[in-house]
Amino acid sequence: MNHFEARAGELHCEETPLRRIAEQVGTPVYVYSTATFSRHYQVFRDAFRPRVVEVAFAVKANSNLSVLATLARLGAGADTVSEGEVRRALAAGVPAGKVVFSGAGKTREELQFALGVGVGQINIESEPELDLLIEVARASGRAAPAMAIRVNPDVGAGGHAKISTGKAENKFGVSLGEAERLYAKAHESGAVRPVALACHVGSQITDLDPLEAAYRTLKGLAQRLRDRGVAVQKLDLGGGLGVTYFNQPEPPPPAALAEMVNRVFDGFEAELTFEPGRVIAANAGVLVSRVIYVHQRPEGRRFLVLDAAMNDLLRPAMYDAYHDIRPVALAAEGAPLEPYDVVGPICETSDTFTRDRMLPPLKAGDLVAFMSAGAYGAVMSSEYNTRPLVPEVLVNGPEFAVVRPRPTYDEMLAREPLAPWL
Ligand code: PLP
Repeated sequence: MNHFEARAGELHCEETPLRRIAEQVGTPVYVYSTATFSRHYQVFRDAFRPRVVEVAFAVKANSNLSVLATLARLGAGADTVSEGEVRRALAAGVPAGKVVFSGAGKTREELQFALGVGVGQINIESEPELDLLIEVARASGRAAPAMAIRVNPDVGAGGHAKISTGKAENKFGVSLGEAERLYAKAHESGAVRPVALACHVGSQITDLDPLEAAYRTLKGLAQRLRDRGVAVQKLDLGGGLGVTYFNQPEPPPPAALAEMVNRVFDGFEAELTFEPGRVIAANAGVLVSRVIYVHQRPEGRRFLVLDAAMNDLLRPAMYDAYHDIRPVALAAEGAPLEPYDVVGPICETSDTFTRDRMLPPLKAGDLVAFMSAGAYGAVMSSEYNTRPLVPEVLVNGPEFAVVRPRPTYDEMLAREPLAPWL
């Protein structure tokens, strides 16, 4: 469920017409729904009841400070993959103790920073990274930081090869064989405090079987470590649950994930952490864009040229992702559908959102909304072709706020001082 619905013939976000936002802020523009973010977070968290789980929102999915602050106020933690994301989470009010720091290539400086601010858990993804953390922790003179070993369970999952992370050929985490040794090594170092085993096997997962296989692998490993007298307090089960984009396999709801988790860990004492991103954010945001031209070739193809482009929403170009596209002003009942190739203004053939999409008649100046664009949308945007970074707006009932403004051209150019010899 989300809060993007038609009212009085036009698409609204909660009680705010998308047209009003487009008129005041301009297009393209991302629009987020506070109520949807809040609901998705609460539904996910409460699905596991009576079990209490930690939910660390994957900041990479949507790192806007107001979005993070919305979730932080509800008690969410944050799963982060860079110093920048840690800083965002802290700035948004996530307590340091609820920040998980993941990522395959954390630098010395990033680890020092994480220790300095006291993040709750550092997820280690390789032996050299463990060695570096031990060295940095010893040098810091601080109490041993809590850490996890991220295990690569060699499980295939996820909606696209580019978002599968849990196969042995993927760079993430250490192999099962290595995990036990490294966890014990961390334990014996005395410099760090291994508290958890972690995994994250992919994104846009629509089948629970690979997740269950990964969780059982983690549980077995935790048991083997416990049998050796090495404590494993927590299991960090990652994120990955898919969402309905349209015409794709229906993903299981959080309740089905929770049912499986409660079955797998029945009688097994461990605190559980999840790192959901997409399932919380995707359907909480849309990208609103205006039609610049309808370019009808006499030979047949009809291009809908929008003012949004692949630099604003990369998913279709990068993952062949499907986004439902809806006119903001609802078409008249029974209006004929026509095929459009929906494209942006960028000088790349990959700047094609979709081909032969059946849409009601559209003309220059009309507004359309890319649905389910709240996750991996604005966070991947760029200024390619010197197009100003797409702004973000957060709606709260009848009110809205610009939570990332569009830069002016002067601001963009001022970021680049000329070399002194020029
Ligand atoms: N945790 C980690 C370590 C990730 O790499 C990701 C995404 O790639 C996530 C959580 C969030 O995944 P999703 O947005 O599919 O829930």
